[in-house]
Amino acid sequence: MSKSVPFILDSHCDTPSQILRFRNLALDNKWSHVDFPKLVRGGIDASFFALYTPATLSPDESTAAALRMAAAVYDSVEENSDVAALAFSTDQIMENKEKGLVSILLGMENGAPIQKSLSMLRMFYRLGVRYMTLTHNGDNEIADSAAEGNRWHGLSPFGREVIREMNDLGMIVDVAHVSDETFYDCIKYSRAPIVSTHSCCRALCGHRRNMSDDMLRALRDNGGVIQINFYPCFLSDEFNRVLAESGIEEEGDRIEAAFRADPADPAKVSAWHGILDRLERLERPSYKVVVDHIDHAVSIAGIDHVGIGSDFDGISVTPAGLEDISKMGVVFDEMRRRGYSESDIDKVAGGNFMRIFKAVETKKTL
Ligand SMILES: [Zn+2]
Repeated sequence: MSKSVPFILDSHCDTPSQILRFRNLALDNKWSHVDFPKLVRGGIDASFFALYTPATLSPDESTAAALRMAAAVYDSVEENSDVAALAFSTDQIMENKEKGLVSILLGMENGAPIQKSLSMLRMFYRLGVRYMTLTHNGDNEIADSAAEGNRWHGLSPFGREVIREMNDLGMIVDVAHVSDETFYDCIKYSRAPIVSTHSCCRALCGHRRNMSDDMLRALRDNGGVIQINFYPCFLSDEFNRVLAESGIEEEGDRIEAAFRADPADPAKVSAWHGILDRLERLERPSYKVVVDHIDHAVSIAGIDHVGIGSDFDGISVTPAGLEDISKMGVVFDEMRRRGYSESDIDKVAGGNFMRIFKAVETKKTL
């Protein structure tokens, strides 16, 4: 029996920051997880490119950085119009697929660039941003983050206005990175289903960024979806122990900060690549652990509420056997081995996210 090829949507890739590091996405880059040759080889139909801004930037710096990345994505997709096209809706994703093109969509990771302004939020929507991760690793004007969580104890009063405006616009509310209190506030205040675009299960790995079983049940009742992240630090407590014992992390943070500040300096680039090589040589969790998280999320939330959000290009180390987006198929092959039907695989590979995207864009309310 020949296996069918699922429609694949990856809801979170940090590729815009790679473009800013002078990587040409037309080429198969050794150090990138995502570029056009890899997207095509992996049979990816749609990928959300995240406009990520760190919590350390000032409001003006974060807006400028988000716009710079959006411009870079527009340029890069236009330069590769033989294989890819931008998409701003579920219909456009399907139209691009008909033409044999990979759809690139924009998400925004950290709401800081809207600067406490609903007008700015509307302009980012017009620019093409179709989901917004409310925070990154710091509390902001909108909400508390899982990494801090002390400023508002959930959504701020402005954050509640943001949720209402996102619902009105048809922009997906993304709860990856938010605190538990913010998550439950989003469940309470959003009129549309919500998504975690790149998170794992706390029952399998205790990282506070991951979702508890109670959160998974709340997400199911909300009609939302958890998109499973591939980052070994979110997949495996054992890997966190291995990483801590290796001592690479502290040195890596320092070298990465120097590289990010000056990505054209060959010495800083090669020092960073040296760190990536050392991380890859650690005992990494297998890609099968990604499927363990899919299994767990399915067992708690149900098959209609689980998908894929790799976090590729935003993570410094990957699972063994799943080193870049061209290898995505191993996840679905493993699901087949574990007895999932083709229609179940279709849901996880992209169908569930598309259902929610459609509900949000047509402003269907809960
Ligand atoms: Zn993230």
